[in-house]
Amino acid sequence: MNAPAPGVPQRRRGTNLPKMGDFNQAVILDSIRRSEEGLSRVELAALAGLAAQTVSNICRRLLDSGLIVEAGKDGSGPGKPRTILRLNPKGMYAVGVHIDPALTSYALLDAVGTVLFSVDEATELGIDPAQAVANMGTRILSVIEQSGVPFGRIAGVGVATPGPVDAASGTVVSPPHMPGWTRVPLRDILAETTGLTVVVEKDVTASAVAELWAWSGHAAANFVFVYIGTGIGAGLVLNDEVVRGSSGNVGEIGHIITDPDGPLCDCGRRGCVKVTCMPETVVGLAREAGVLPAHPVGEPAPALADELAAVARAAAEGEPSAVEILDNSARRMAGAVSVLTNLLDVDCVVFGGPFWPALAPVYLSKVPALVAALSVTTCVHSVEIAGTRLTSGEEAFGAACLVLEKSFNASAEQLLLDAKA
Ligand SMILES: [Zn+2]
Repeated sequence: MNAPAPGVPQRRRGTNLPKMGDFNQAVILDSIRRSEEGLSRVELAALAGLAAQTVSNICRRLLDSGLIVEAGKDGSGPGKPRTILRLNPKGMYAVGVHIDPALTSYALLDAVGTVLFSVDEATELGIDPAQAVANMGTRILSVIEQSGVPFGRIAGVGVATPGPVDAASGTVVSPPHMPGWTRVPLRDILAETTGLTVVVEKDVTASAVAELWAWSGHAAANFVFVYIGTGIGAGLVLNDEVVRGSSGNVGEIGHIITDPDGPLCDCGRRGCVKVTCMPETVVGLAREAGVLPAHPVGEPAPALADELAAVARAAAEGEPSAVEILDNSARRMAGAVSVLTNLLDVDCVVFGGPFWPALAPVYLSKVPALVAALSVTTCVHSVEIAGTRLTSGEEAFGAACLVLEKSFNASAEQLLLDAKA
């Protein structure tokens, strides 16, 4: 009994052992969240592998707390009509904060991931980092107030920050381009200022969580998320769970060597992907080749994203040097990505990050065949190369998803935590 219905993807199943209430609750909530039409208690019991009475008790608790609602009856099957349960969008909310050296973005989401409020502000780099973080806390409180949602329904604050992080202590260690931010206790300062639970993760991990959130309803997800920003990093999702590593710093792929004779990297070696494929290198090569005009001395340099977009436009128009530069970049990126697909046996590589939109046309046309040729698993299954489902500017959305993920995802890690409780 309790087998999933045919055609229903196998999800993580619950356990009927005592003291596993929170884990089971997360399994039930996650199943309801993933179902567009809502689910009955009978369907939930089958999906989660739980006894009918256990499901009934959990649903009663979730209804009482307002996290789910009864949404009509389904009378299509045999027997008496079943009450359909759905997530209550107003049942809880999450705040996301994305810290970037230039901008700090804030977003407030409801329980189904709808952004209700968002705002961007310049990151305060000229002042004491602890004070800058305390100011973020004050801003979070004003975001909640401006959104009009009840404070008591805020499940927490998710913060996405440039790595490296010390996830255990919620500390930002020393992110590049953020001078003075050496071991800043981000989580503790924000928790103190806001009185809310705060989760801190590396920005790339938050993006992977957001991507996973956007994949909701698909079969078990196995993918690498490759983030192309000022640096290049990866997030990892295996079997529907975001992998974080022992300190929350999984995915530091920048030093994968893609060209042994390439430009020097800060690690002392040559041709690391973070150098060969970073937008600055592509733009620099384009300028050397005359694709971009040299910018006059004394004038401020144009924005990197604009220059990269200009190279991409030139390549789309067939300008030979631009085509060659971007093709080489795609080839090197494919080389780095195939190291990941071979190591991890994922079935998809998702690209994203602020510079992705400019690179997308060339990468999406070149990288799939290159990765297929280099991936050992190609003889067993294809490796899809895709662009992010999230549009740029949604980094704070990803940060808020960290909170929703913690509330909904029944992870093996959580099962262990519950067992210890
Ligand atoms: Zn390197």
